[in-house]
Amino acid sequence: MTGLRALNELTLPHPDAATTIFNLKDYRVLETQILDYGQRRVHVESTVESGCPGCGVIGTRCHSRRWQRVRDIPVAGPVEVLWRKRRYFCDESVCERKTFSEATAQVPARARSTRRLHGALVDAVVSSGRAATETAIAHGVSWWLVQKALNMAATKLPDVDLLRPRMLGIDEHRFRSVRFFKNTETNTWQRIEPWMTTIVDLDTGQILGVVDGRDHTGVGAWLIKRPLDWRLGVQVVAIDPSAAFRKALRMWLPRTAVSVDHFHLIQLTNQALTEVRQQLSHKVRGRRGRAVDPAWAHRMLLLRAADSLSEAAKARLGKVFATDDPTGKLKAAWDVKEQVRTLLRTGSLEDAELAKADLERLVKESNQPETTRLWRTICRWWKEIEVLIVTGATTGKVEANNTSIKHIKRTGRGFVNSTNYTTRIMLRSAARTAVNFPLQ
Ligand SMILES: [Zn+2]
Repeated sequence: MTGLRALNELTLPHPDAATTIFNLKDYRVLETQILDYGQRRVHVESTVESGCPGCGVIGTRCHSRRWQRVRDIPVAGPVEVLWRKRRYFCDESVCERKTFSEATAQVPARARSTRRLHGALVDAVVSSGRAATETAIAHGVSWWLVQKALNMAATKLPDVDLLRPRMLGIDEHRFRSVRFFKNTETNTWQRIEPWMTTIVDLDTGQILGVVDGRDHTGVGAWLIKRPLDWRLGVQVVAIDPSAAFRKALRMWLPRTAVSVDHFHLIQLTNQALTEVRQQLSHKVRGRRGRAVDPAWAHRMLLLRAADSLSEAAKARLGKVFATDDPTGKLKAAWDVKEQVRTLLRTGSLEDAELAKADLERLVKESNQPETTRLWRTICRWWKEIEVLIVTGATTGKVEANNTSIKHIKRTGRGFVNSTNYTTRIMLRSAARTAVNFPLQ
């Protein structure tokens, strides 16, 4: 054993080979061992000074040394790390502490594992999307340590209340069917919501909040917790077309303009066209569509945007209208769908107004319940569509996040504790959107 050494000898300009390879900051390898069963053991000591936690005076007189086991990342395979930890006398006469243990940036006071291990665990779960249990097994640590590392990383998440988002996107999402979990403490069954709502900063794409359920009161409760100037600073909020939600938003964000999501409007439009096609098959053939009917076989072709069609696809579509649309209803509904796309692409309110007039004419010509219903929806949401056209605020970024959230939900399996998965979702989002968000 190396025994006593003066502190000024601790930091060597040229560390030895074992220290260089082990590469744990502020530590030096004293000795390495290979145990009978092949396990490698590394003895280390710190190379930095430690201050008394009571008064901050640097310790110079060593009181005692003891070996502490420290969990660490594998270094070319699993290693067992033993730290020869010093205890110092506090030489400050007015300080109440007589002695104190050393602490380093990698192994702070009372810690039993290195920060680089925490970093590796958080990285495995957040960046690689591995399940906590799987990560624990891969690193030879407990599930609990993985969760603890995640919770510690979460404390470094930016404070939502200090951010000043300009545009918000709010989107509800179903991630699986309803499940029930037995609460072992109370011996009762708990319903786990299959719905959740995410609130995203549309400028950065960062998730600001995750709320369980699709009930808008959850979002309301979240918004009302934000400071008043935070809520007044939100200029635009993009939502799915839900009248109840729109009504409720007026209460929580009274000065905010509401934009309706582009994607959901296209979805409603496509749905109307699909219904017309299904109706037609029933009327003309008295049965459901089959793959041999052109309009059925080309159902995806009908939904695609006209400007994305190749010449061959356009010809196929023309054939569908010529041979499988005797009443002209399908073509009329398709024209309505294309006009909605044109309308949503306009860049100014004047152009939008003109496109709306054209749409009204096409809907009247089409004269079908499906397209008339679509027209009514567009009229009811006209103000929000105008906001969409002017600001371009859609929930697209929320949707992108939902894909990764679904992945987290799946890899995380159970998640009886909802704060655990919320932590993971927020960490993943922060790691992806804020370039310098530290995971360690
Ligand atoms: Zn002290």
